[in-house]
Amino acid sequence: MNIKRVFFALTAMTLFALGISAQNMQSASSYSKMHNDLLAKQSRVKDQIRVQEAQKYATDLYEECEPEPDIFTEGWDSDLVNCYKDANVPNSKVLDVRHYVMPIKGNYVTSRYGYRPQFGRTHKGVDLRSAIGDTIYSAFSGRVRLTRFDRGGYGFYVIVRHDNGLETIYGHLSRFLVKPDQYVKAGQPIALSGNTGRSTGPHLHFETRFMGYAINPEAIFDFANRCTHTDSYTFSKSTYTKSRDYAPSKRYNQAKKSVAEEKETASKKVVKKEQPQQKETASTRKSTKESRDESRSTYKVRKGDNLGKIASRNNMTVAQLKKLNGLSSDNVEEGKVLRVK
Ligand SMILES: [Zn+2]
Repeated sequence: MNIKRVFFALTAMTLFALGISAQNMQSASSYSKMHNDLLAKQSRVKDQIRVQEAQKYATDLYEECEPEPDIFTEGWDSDLVNCYKDANVPNSKVLDVRHYVMPIKGNYVTSRYGYRPQFGRTHKGVDLRSAIGDTIYSAFSGRVRLTRFDRGGYGFYVIVRHDNGLETIYGHLSRFLVKPDQYVKAGQPIALSGNTGRSTGPHLHFETRFMGYAINPEAIFDFANRCTHTDSYTFSKSTYTKSRDYAPSKRYNQAKKSVAEEKETASKKVVKKEQPQQKETASTRKSTKESRDESRSTYKVRKGDNLGKIASRNNMTVAQLKKLNGLSSDNVEEGKVLRVK
């Protein structure tokens, strides 16, 4: 027992002595420069990230940014009038989104719309990747309602109220290019992208609202393909938070159909217009064909047709056919509807 105690005491004294001599050696003037260099290379303890900060940092990285406070219900300055607050919002409303321009050149969504349980609130827009100074474009034409600064949330932000009834909000900007009440066209530069407000990196926070209701922007826009899903968006109080079920083939068929319909409408002499939402089935195809046969005063140009063929088939001359339809050239587009009597 005693021998062990003595041994421990001696060891402790030796280590203590060594410690002192090490300290003396380090603080000796001949070593002080080296010592200072070593210190300079070390990162200071208070700069290192603590555990809870590391957790927050990881969360921010995952989220790209925290959901911004809702400017329509939170932090809404008393000098501003939220005209939608007590408005009677319809349950459903069809909005024309044909004349759009994507708000930013990129196509990458870094944070989507939706509820964030860790913050207990909803992210009411999408975050689009951008660099500081990227141009931000008005998504539709309309009038600038607000250009403001919100330090704890949106940073510098712009709200544009559009002709189609929507409002769009652009957050974390670095510079405004428009003033309130200014009329802007779709695609007009309205601001430069930035990293202001509650933001962990440069991005555009983009919201689409109808009478204060923050619609999931991905229900209207297909950001990956830089387009809208369809020509109109039907706002519905029960579905506005959901993103659009995107099926390219469905959209392609819809587009093909609407192009054909547009051509028919343009030729003014439409025989019988199909219901826009009606699906083309065997029976509707039949009825369309019948209606075409019934009226022999028009003719829809088919593939391989020319004016000569069409004229002779209808007992007319090419000149008569051209005069009747106001044609100046001998070429005629497939799908065009011509008067033949
Ligand atoms: Zn955001």
